[in-house]
Parts: sequence; structure tokens; C-alpha cells
Amino acid sequence: MTERTIYLDHAATTALDPRVLEAMLPYLTTEYGNASSIYTLGRHAMQAVDRAREQVAEVLHCRPTELAFVGCGSESDNLAIKGMAFAAQKKGNHIITSSIEHHAVLHTCEYLDRFGFKTTYLPVDEYARVNPDDVGRAITDQTILVSVMYANNEVGTIEPIAEIGRICRAKKVPFHVDAVQAGGAIPLDVVAANVDMLSLSAHKFYGPKGVGILYTRQGIRILPQMQGGSQERGRRAGTENIAGIVGAATALQLAQAEMEQATPRITALRDRLIESVLTIPQSRLTGHPTQRLPNNASFCFEGVEGESILLSLDMLGIAASTGSACTSGSIDPSHVLIAMGLSPAWSHGGLRLTLGKNTTEAEVDAVAAALPTIVQKVRGLGLSVGA
Ligand code: PLP
Repeated sequence: MTERTIYLDHAATTALDPRVLEAMLPYLTTEYGNASSIYTLGRHAMQAVDRAREQVAEVLHCRPTELAFVGCGSESDNLAIKGMAFAAQKKGNHIITSSIEHHAVLHTCEYLDRFGFKTTYLPVDEYARVNPDDVGRAITDQTILVSVMYANNEVGTIEPIAEIGRICRAKKVPFHVDAVQAGGAIPLDVVAANVDMLSLSAHKFYGPKGVGILYTRQGIRILPQMQGGSQERGRRAGTENIAGIVGAATALQLAQAEMEQATPRITALRDRLIESVLTIPQSRLTGHPTQRLPNNASFCFEGVEGESILLSLDMLGIAASTGSACTSGSIDPSHVLIAMGLSPAWSHGGLRLTLGKNTTEAEVDAVAAALPTIVQKVRGLGLSVGA
């Protein structure tokens, strides 16, 4: 066991940046007012939320009034999709999404089936890219929403969002983007990308857990999914999580300010890791070779169960992830790898290594040195899957 965890699972979550904690602390202690209260303590809370909204608006290139703070990335996706579906049900019942979305989108679309909505799940190519022309072809006079993620959470592929946005805008169909993995990692500009709704989650960019953000372009109408007070301009009832909101905005602003300097370093480390891991026999990179998140190195290994690799890495103090979900004892292959056309012999063997701003070259090299033996051992133990 190593003494310190080598944390290569930043796509799952990140540690709170100490500067973010510092910005949050007053709102967890002395500035405990309710933003709806009219006395000074309450006004301080409201001012903090207003400032946070301005900070986020500056990063996304939108108006502060177009932003709502919610409880997490999943809630932001739910609010965008259900909110639009129920607001537009008189116009049509057709939703278009991709087959590689996060379950916060896929399960929301499935849930809407029972209310008479129908969803088209677009295919992706071998690199997990959606073809924008497929979006154009799938749109009918019943289509009320297109939802495509900015970057995939398993394999890191960045989707052609601006092109899809152009097509949706030309056909006057609202376009939602789950940017939970892209937020804080690549520049986002909702205007340039013709995006109508966009979802973010603070814990992916060194902010606190339990804070999501939904951008809704002015003029786009959605129905709130939570009834109660009129917070967030009626889009999301509930007393605001002031400390969380301040933390989310501070974290996003810091990520934006430091992106230009951080990206080349992290990309070089990612590529160093990719190069060494691909020397392992029967291994391949998953996701797009160049259009991918700067911190994402994803692989699969033929005939190997990804979970077995994770357990061996964990024994060495290395935290990583697969795309697979364990359900009632059986290990399902990743829906993303399947959509990319990988056979079962490959799609069970996913491994996602996601780097962070504090990841060092020594850590990357330690993981690269450990992996060949682990994969060989897991193959030798017969913990493998057939074709
Ligand atoms: N969408 C994507 C692409 C994600 O990766 C995640 C979380 O991993 C979510 C949505 C959900 O975000 P949250 O964990 O804040 O609910």
C-alpha cells in the first residue's frame, strides 16, 4: 500500500479548492441569513447570490438572469428536460438525445415515456462522436428538445456542440447541453455555441458537492419541477444554499482564470499516460484521439473485467474508475462503449483515469508502471470475459 492515495478519478468528483472553502466559510458561520429575508442579514445573503450569478454569467457569456442555482448536475439535467417537455407538450412530444448521455439524461427521457413523450437515441461513431447531420435528420415537426452532452463522462470525447446548436437554431428546436464534465475544463460560450440550456455541477471543478447550475436562454420557457417558494425567479423553489452557490461561482471563476495555464500541463501528462498504457498488449484508447477532455485517459483491455483492474489498483492506493455499473451482482458493460461498437470482450474492460490540477508526473508514472502487471495478472487469473 502506498501512503497517499493517487487520485485519478477527477471525473467522479474533485476536492474542494481551499480558496473556495475560504469564500464559503462566512456563509456557513456569521452570514447565515435567508436570502428571502428583508433585514440586513438576509440582504447580505441575497447580495452573495447575486454576485455569484454575475460571476457565473461572465464565464458562460450569458446574462445573470438566465441562470438558476439548483441542487446538483442531475437536477439541472432533470429540470431542463422535464421542464421543457411539460412546457412544450402542446407543441409536440418528440425528444432527441444521444445514446451515450449520462443517466441523469437517459433515465429522465425514459421517465418521460410514461407521459406520452418519445425519445430518439442517436448513435455515435467509434470515437463516441454524434454526427450533427443525424440531429438534423431526426428533427420532426413534433420535436420539442434536443439534448446532447458537451463531453462524455466515460471516454472524454468532446461533441460538436456548436454545429448541433446551429442546426437546432435553424430548425427552431431548443437545445440543451449537459456540460457537467466540460465545465471548468474547457472554455464554454453559450452564445457562440447556440445553446439554449446548459447544465453544470460544481463538484466537478473543485467546488462543493450539492450545487448545480442551469442556464436557460432568455425567452426559453420551462416549467419548474419543484413547487414552493419563488426563489430563482420561480424556476427552483427552496431556500438557497448560499455557501454552496458562492463556492460554485468562485470555483468556476478560478477554473476559468487558470485554464490557459493548467491545460497544457494536464494535456501533456494525459498524453504521457496514454502512450505508456497503450504499450500493454490488447489495449486500446477509448474516445476521440484529439477531441477529448484534457484530463481524460480512457482505455479498454480485451478479455479483462474492468472492476478487477480497479480492485488491484485500489490495493496500491490508486483510485480510478470504469464505465460499468454493477447491478444486483452482475456487471453490465458500459452503454457508452457498447454504443461505440465495442464487442463484449472489450466493453467489459473499461478503465477511466482522469487527472486533476494537482496530479504529478510521478503519480502518472507510478500508475503507468503498475498497470501492465495488473492487467497481466487479471488475465492470468482467468477473471476474463469471452467474446
Ligand atoms: N452529467 C454528467 C455528464 C456527469 O458526469 C454527471 C456526474 O458524474 C452528472 C450529469 C450528474 O452530476 P451530479 O453528480 O452533480 O448530479
